[in-house]
Amino acid sequence: MGNCDIGLVGLGTMGAALALNIAEKGFNIAVWNRTGAKTEAFMEGAGALAARITPAQELADLVAALKPPRAIILMVPAGDPVDQQIAALRPLLGTDDLIIDAGNANFRDTNRRMADPGAFLGIGVSGGEAGARHGPSIMGGGDRAHWDRVAPILTAIAADYHGMPCAAWLGPEGAGHFVKAVHNGIEYADMQMIAEIYGLMRDGLGRSANQIGDVFTRWNSGALQSYLVEISGQVAAAHDAATNGPLLDVIVDAAGQKGTGRWTAIEAQHLGAPIPAIEAAITARNISARREERQAAEALFGPAPKPIDAGILQDSVMEKALIAGKVLCYSQGFGMLAAAARSFGWTMPLPEVARVWRAGCIIRSAMLDDMADALTEDAGRTLMMAPVFADHLRAGHAALRTLVATAATHGIAVPALASALAYFDAMRTARGTANMIQGQRDFFGLHGFARLDDGSTGQHGPWADAES
Ligand code: NDP
Repeated sequence: MGNCDIGLVGLGTMGAALALNIAEKGFNIAVWNRTGAKTEAFMEGAGALAARITPAQELADLVAALKPPRAIILMVPAGDPVDQQIAALRPLLGTDDLIIDAGNANFRDTNRRMADPGAFLGIGVSGGEAGARHGPSIMGGGDRAHWDRVAPILTAIAADYHGMPCAAWLGPEGAGHFVKAVHNGIEYADMQMIAEIYGLMRDGLGRSANQIGDVFTRWNSGALQSYLVEISGQVAAAHDAATNGPLLDVIVDAAGQKGTGRWTAIEAQHLGAPIPAIEAAITARNISARREERQAAEALFGPAPKPIDAGILQDSVMEKALIAGKVLCYSQGFGMLAAAARSFGWTMPLPEVARVWRAGCIIRSAMLDDMADALTEDAGRTLMMAPVFADHLRAGHAALRTLVATAATHGIAVPALASALAYFDAMRTARGTANMIQGQRDFFGLHGFARLDDGSTGQHGPWADAES
């Protein structure tokens, strides 16, 4: 019988970093990688931590190295590789032995795998390589009893927020991977809004990358303090030796994506959960990838961006607008999580979600601490209506309006910020316009409508009589 506390399959970027993190926190770990040479290179680079790491040449060796009941983390690409590894491991394991998929799985795959025989957990891990190595944010899902078994290890390796680990059980079945997908959707929108402000400063205000970097760096000491604003300042400030100019100016304007943002949009539609800022950000990445088409359209229609008078769009206006946009985007993300919990019958502690996002993950920010407090006071509330965020919106929606209107009149696309504003205006309009939609639906399909005056439902307009 082995003496290792946990096993890990997949020594790629994330797996290798997680394994070193686990060993550093004092646990014995056994590791296996499909390509054996990578295991050898990993052990050579492990330094003193190698004493707590057992490299396995075969999966059977990995299993033999573990204390029962065993726990094995999979850190391989989502999809077939996870199913292949589960199929290879299960015959070597007892029913009590736990397989933990820590990759970016689609939560529907996690639900399916959880229904198969054998103990299984799906956990979302965020923070990139540095997070995995020194403290990621860990979003746990699955049976609570299984989570509790490995929680001592997962909380020990997680990011620390003022003494509190950023690792928690967030619900049954695929809830952990669902939360991770929504995290990534919010990440897309957060990044897109920053990029839109960058575009206004570059194309509208004619500022250099370095000047723009200074603005982001300054904002990072205020309400916008966050990892993404911080790194945006650093990205904009970076120098390119080859051109002796800003690196940002030579980076191709086509954004990549691996699919988790897209899953968020698809699931939001299934749930009927409005997340327009996140959807706009995903669409913006799709449009960014159509570079040749955009170049042809610019040649056809002429360039859109027109210079903006600096007096119209001051830094303070853009800062307030970005704060408002961010509040609205997070409110949408948390609203989607609440809708999922209701629809799937999941117990999902929303304040815990905000807490595990406070450190370690890509969307970590000062605002998440306020979100955790607001959701602790009332987990059922719409985040944008919590007093602290309502204050941000009261103070910032006029700025967001100025920014979106200015961008529109100067031909600068700000889809995520514009959709956040439209969401705000729609959400605070008690008497909307869907009465017209209901009238139209009844006209062509006799779908019926409800009346405001007497509360009756299934009513039809005079066109129904004409039909009969
Ligand atoms: P890498 O590409 O760096 O590593 C992938 C690892 O999986 C390698 O060890 C590879 O082994 C192994 N692997 C690939 N296919 C198979 C297979 N069919 N069977 C067995 N092993 C296989 O990926 P990452 O470490 O970046 O990502 C791992 C997971 O973590 C993914 O789900 C990813 O989405 C997620 N993730 C990644 C983050 C990041 O910032 N990179 C952040 C958060 C989550 P081999 O050496 O033999 O090729």
